[in-house]
Amino acid sequence: MNLFQNVLLDIILILFPMILFLLYNAYNEVYDLKKSDLCLDFAIITSFYLVLTFKPDGYSYPYLMMNVPLALAYLKNKNKSILILSVLCFITLMGKYNIPAYYYIIEYTMLYILYKVMDKFTFVNLFITLNIFFYLLYEVLEKPYLFGNNSYIPNALTVLIPFIIVTYIIMFTFKKASTIITFHKDSKKTQDEKELRLSLFKITHEIKNPITVCKGYLDMFDFDDIKKSKKYIRIIKNEINRVLILLEDFLSINKIKIEKDIIDINLLLEEMTNSFLPILKEKNIDKIFNISKDELFINADYNRLNQVFINIMKNSIEAITDNGVICVFLKKNKDNIEIHIEDNGVGMDKEELKKIKEPFFTTKKQGSGLGVYLSRQIIEAHGGNIEYVSKKYIGTKTIVTLPYEEIGI
Ligand code: ADP
Ligand code: MG
Repeated sequence: MNLFQNVLLDIILILFPMILFLLYNAYNEVYDLKKSDLCLDFAIITSFYLVLTFKPDGYSYPYLMMNVPLALAYLKNKNKSILILSVLCFITLMGKYNIPAYYYIIEYTMLYILYKVMDKFTFVNLFITLNIFFYLLYEVLEKPYLFGNNSYIPNALTVLIPFIIVTYIIMFTFKKASTIITFHKDSKKTQDEKELRLSLFKITHEIKNPITVCKGYLDMFDFDDIKKSKKYIRIIKNEINRVLILLEDFLSINKIKIEKDIIDINLLLEEMTNSFLPILKEKNIDKIFNISKDELFINADYNRLNQVFINIMKNSIEAITDNGVICVFLKKNKDNIEIHIEDNGVGMDKEELKKIKEPFFTTKKQGSGLGVYLSRQIIEAHGGNIEYVSKKYIGTKTIVTLPYEEIGI
């Protein structure tokens, strides 16, 4: 292996676990500081292990290169890794040179003191200098000859140059990558905060409206004309009910808990559709319910799924203006089931379809815009998905897909 290949191998061995760590951070949706910290410790120690293990025999400088992961631990203030690596480096060096232990203790203690008193940039430079100094010192103490065939000087150069290059490249790469990831995380955080602010605005707005109506009627309340004022009470009660329903929806956003059990999905659909018969009749909506009487068992949360199908049915009913038809059927595939609920209501255009799964998206005066959002959360918690196919003024197909596994009962 020539010098270039050597440097390349070092970079790969040290950077590989670091890159895995950075990728883990970049793609991890929820940033968990404790977990990320632990992963970094693990990556640093893995780098150390790889350098010591996979460098070809005959190269003395893995002993110098093993200090690079230590430098990374210093750079990221990883106290646990600093301690573990310092001890591991110490033990490894003890096995390499026949030099009294206090030399190594001085080396690693000095690094620690420098880390404590210097800023990061100066520390990296001093770290390299100190490492070179101690490396040369050990070589001189071990082989006390300067020139001749066995001179340590040419050997030292082929060791020190890659060490300096690799250390700088790794520090630079890691610093740049960390900056990119911090930026990525920050921009995600800003986005989340923006959404939160928007949600709070919408919630406040939704609640403010009915309360303003209530206040208006209370202001008009005339105790001398109780007969007239009595009318207001019904309206106030309706508005309060609306607020309560809205609050119920808001509250359920954060507490979707799925308690799975073996349930008969056909029975669920039958009971659910039956509960809609009176309202369908009242609204003159035709129904085509093609639900099998056979049992079809799945592992799911009965009440939650029921809530989802009620939301979908309600939306279909609300979308229908006249000559309405609602069609419900189940399709069983090899490893999933599809429940279709189709209507010939007002339908949605592309813009509406895009927004439908967002919380608070509603086109209704009295809507909360949480029905589809909550339904999606519930279905996804079951490992399924919910899909909308719609055409403006033609109708909407809602397809709920749930995973299916043969359940032996
Ligand atoms: P809400 O019913 O309170 O408006 P949802 O989350 O249930 O909230 O629905 C969000 C929006 O999606 C509705 O306001 C409506 O515009 C659209 N939508 C949902 N289902 C249908 C449907 N079957 N047909 C037409 N539009 C629908
Ligand atoms: Mg709805």
